Amino acid sequence: MMSIKKVLIVGAGTMGSGIAQVCAQSGFSVLLNDISQELIEKAIKNISWSVGKFIEKGKLSERKEAILERIEGIIDFSKAKEVDLAIEAVFENLDLKKEIFRKLDEVCPPHALIASNTSTIPITELASVTRRPEKVLGLHFFNPAPMMDVVEVIKGINTSEETFKQGLDFVKKIGKEAVRVERDVPGFLLNRINLISYVEAIRLVEEGIGTIEEIDKGMRLGFGRRMGPFETGDLVGLDVSLNGLMAIYEESKDNRYYPPQLLRRKVRAGHLGRKVGKGWYEYNSDGSRREK
Ligand code: NAD
Repeated sequence: MMSIKKVLIVGAGTMGSGIAQVCAQSGFSVLLNDISQELIEKAIKNISWSVGKFIEKGKLSERKEAILERIEGIIDFSKAKEVDLAIEAVFENLDLKKEIFRKLDEVCPPHALIASNTSTIPITELASVTRRPEKVLGLHFFNPAPMMDVVEVIKGINTSEETFKQGLDFVKKIGKEAVRVERDVPGFLLNRINLISYVEAIRLVEEGIGTIEEIDKGMRLGFGRRMGPFETGDLVGLDVSLNGLMAIYEESKDNRYYPPQLLRRKVRAGHLGRKVGKGWYEYNSDGSRREK
């Protein structure tokens, strides 16, 4: 089995920078790509801060500089010919992702695997624009990638068993647990389940049966979750969840996924969650939650 040594991450946003950090911490060489030098520098600054936190907490024993040295920021794909695995983590937009997959297929060496971190777009559709659909798979990380211990490894219709095994093996090497997903249905496994409970929580608030605070508290204490559905919703972004729900609904026409009106109204109002300081809760500029 081909061993993965060098990884290209396309998109240095929330997920791409987290995935780059995880790979570098596990000893992989990383090329981190985005559309401008400024965005790459911002990502590397965030990674540096986060690696520092891990070291402070005693969760990493290596020097920060040694980890950061493994990450090289690039704004073109000229070095992609050296990679064994490319992970795409650009905006959740089908046309953009297809364009990236076409480009990656052109520049990556024939043995390289191409993965997407998409939450809802079928892997099969992205694979269809390449000449190597058997080497395309989904690697779905959770946010924040350096903290969350699970990655869904997803098969498209043409993904070979060998590619799937390589994906599972890579996830193990970066110190995460893999969840195997046999078909690339939108939402895969875990978001399918999580989004249903989010929708139900929002409906219960709409119906006046419980408050946001009570539901979050109950879900934390009653089910041992670190965060309640609204706290998670604010972290993920209300717009991101809305898009995810719509993608699952469009594909399945299953009413359970139709976004509740309250969620749609809040997105229209710009209450998108932590990233704008207001979602289900309000936040101070240092990220702490504003008390009511
Ligand atoms: P983000 O907006 O934080 O980052 C996307 C990055 O892609 C930006 O830095 C942008 O400049 C870059 N980009 C755009 N066009 C590009 C191009 N042509 N070439 C290179 N880079 C380009 O988004 P995100 O939250 O990191 O999400 C990325 C992907 O991960 C999406 O597919 C999303 O569905 C998925 N995802 C997100 C989460 C989450 O909670 N945020 C969780 C799991 C999966």
